[in-house]
Amino acid sequence: MLSLNTSSSTFTQPSTPVLIVGAGPTGIFAGLLLTKMGIPHRLIERQHEVSKLSKSLVIHARTLEIFHMLSHDHSHNLPKIDLINKFMNSGTFLADFHCYLGTKLFSTIPMLRNSESHFTEALLIEQSKTVTILTEEYEKLGGQIERGWELMDTRVIEEGKGEESFGVSNPQKGKTFVETTIRRVKAGVNIRSNESKVLGAIELEADLKDKEYDYEVVRSEYLIASDGGKSTVRHKLNIAFPGRTLGKNIIIYDGQVTANIPVDKILILIGDSGRTAISFPLGDNRIRLMLDCGDIAPGNDKIQEAEELTIPKFQKILDEAISPAKMQILDCKWLTYYRVNERLADRYSDKGRIFLCGDAAHVHSPAGGQGLNMGLQDAFNLTWKMSLVLKGSAPGSILDTYEAEHSEVARNIVKLSAGLFGGVIAEGFWQKLLKRFALLTAPYILPRIPQGPPMCMLRIRYRENNINRRCPTQSAPAEEFQVGVRARDGALSIICTENLRDVNEQQHLRLHDLLIGPGIFHILVFTSDMLAKDIATDLKDIRTTVAYNLSKNIETSLATWGVNWEQTQNNTGDDAKNKYRRNSNTGQSKMFMIHVITAPISQPDFETLSVLTNKSFGAGKLYLDEDAALLHRRYGIPTRGGPGSIVLLRPDSYIAYRVQGVSDSAWMDVDKYLNSILILPSKNVELRL
Ligand SMILES: Cc1cc2nc3c(=O)[nH]c(=O)nc-3n(C[C@H](O)[C@H](O)[C@H](O)COP(=O)(O)OP(=O)(O)OC[C@H]3O[C@@H](n4cnc5c(N)ncnc54)[C@H](O)[C@@H]3O)c2cc1C
Repeated sequence: MLSLNTSSSTFTQPSTPVLIVGAGPTGIFAGLLLTKMGIPHRLIERQHEVSKLSKSLVIHARTLEIFHMLSHDHSHNLPKIDLINKFMNSGTFLADFHCYLGTKLFSTIPMLRNSESHFTEALLIEQSKTVTILTEEYEKLGGQIERGWELMDTRVIEEGKGEESFGVSNPQKGKTFVETTIRRVKAGVNIRSNESKVLGAIELEADLKDKEYDYEVVRSEYLIASDGGKSTVRHKLNIAFPGRTLGKNIIIYDGQVTANIPVDKILILIGDSGRTAISFPLGDNRIRLMLDCGDIAPGNDKIQEAEELTIPKFQKILDEAISPAKMQILDCKWLTYYRVNERLADRYSDKGRIFLCGDAAHVHSPAGGQGLNMGLQDAFNLTWKMSLVLKGSAPGSILDTYEAEHSEVARNIVKLSAGLFGGVIAEGFWQKLLKRFALLTAPYILPRIPQGPPMCMLRIRYRENNINRRCPTQSAPAEEFQVGVRARDGALSIICTENLRDVNEQQHLRLHDLLIGPGIFHILVFTSDMLAKDIATDLKDIRTTVAYNLSKNIETSLATWGVNWEQTQNNTGDDAKNKYRRNSNTGQSKMFMIHVITAPISQPDFETLSVLTNKSFGAGKLYLDEDAALLHRRYGIPTRGGPGSIVLLRPDSYIAYRVQGVSDSAWMDVDKYLNSILILPSKNVELRL
């Protein structure tokens, strides 16, 4: 550990289940999710103020889906948050890309739509607004960002290896926990004026002697390192960050301009010089421009960085690059050189206790707008698992799947982003020709991809592992319906005996409206046409049996799983062990929800259906797959004459397990699956705090 100048220090040793380091979008979102799941934590941030830089501009469909699910919270214990409407009201949809050769419109690439998600287009919103919304919603839930606190050092202290540190004897001997040193400057700010813009360690010790600090040694079960590309945590743990720094100089500009091209549109500009600029319209008549200004001479990195980029100098570079197009700079909110790094952390975790998330784990070019989206999805993947382990409902090994799943996703995203960026800045003769060809053909190719371009992140797919498991006794369905794929969305309506007669009176919703969260396993029961009168008029007895058996299985399963795992249980009688269960009473109260979906029914049998229609939300309520059974098809389930299927979704809405049929044996399979990934109370891991 770092040796400290203790003369100016105050030591305290509070402990917390989770310490989150860094309140960028990733860290705040992790905090928000943990709060909703009832997990106490601390979130520290070295900056005293929220960054006002526009940085990320695009929120993709998958992230919007997640915001949507988090906004449909039926819990009455926490204040309601409304992420999705706040985002939708603060951003605009990403529009067409207009490609200009000089001042001449060359091609128009239509907005990147997908037909898969309710959110067909990406949202254009600057990062400062994203961070503001996340912060507001986090604080609404009672979360607090501890600004001005900076992580200095961290390490995992393993069972039996406890030792004296900072002159304080370790009372946790025999346990495993994370010990982290943080400090807060007593006067002034943490940030040093000469901080490097190039990726590298933040020099924490540089001005240690100049300032007075308060210090704390924080003990936690887990640490989430969301401290950005220069991650102190990653450096302190000696986790390598291999990859490359591109030898290109990019200038980023944010401000107002006048121009001889339509800057109220998204532009890809290629000047006579062959250089490329991309411009996005922001609010207040501002644009955000990224300009490729050529290769960096080898060994010249430091000079480029230190050199002051003035507005007159930038105007000159811009004139030369985009001519005959012309942009006159009127003011400037952000102007900087930027170097693209493409790097992936060697490992995402240290001893299963410290986890890297967001830019701390992966960085790449802004092309494709993936970085922030990926960071939020890292947090979404990690936190439900962490919550289960802290509540004693799952073994610590479930956390290993975070790295297994997300390092692969990040690797693909770095490749995707590198390909896009390479295409945009291509300079050789043939490359330039290819670029023009791609820009010309893109308008015809892109709209033909049904799931939208890969940037939407709707196609993220996890491999089979400890959580995503095939049913051992059944053959796997087609690739696109297998475990590990995202839960697809589609239209539903609520079936009531009164409204079934009149389609206009039915209450319409989407499957994703049911998938509230976080931290809830949703079990979808597809009944195919087994409940439909028109198919089996002579089989009323069988139909009735199906409905009643289903109802009974749902009730029994929810009761059993509730006793075993639900957070509200107090079944060990041990106060300390039930700490998080009790705490989570203030958060989401359910861990399992069951929704029954039937193929369209033309002649409803009210008598039979009432046993399911009368059930409450999440407890087996019946819904109609109203769009010609599109949802059955989207989950690979035959509509006519099939035995139905049970599809179990993980709390982050990917298919974890699926089994054909809805009979007793199918429910037993689901029960076996849950018992294989969760821990029964009698085998609970001992909580360490
Ligand atoms: C020009 C540009 C355009 C981009 N466009 C997009 C886009 O369109 N879409 C997209 O998804 N992404 C985009 N990105 C990427 C996106 O900005 C990042 O991926 C995102 O900011 C990562 O969020 P984060 O929370 O992981 O890290 P950061 O935003 O870097 O936050 C890390 C936080 O940790 C704090 N911190 C650091 N060290 C410590 C410490 N020792 N102690 C305490 N706190 C610490 C920092 O102060 C910071 O607040 C773009 C990036 C750039 C530069």
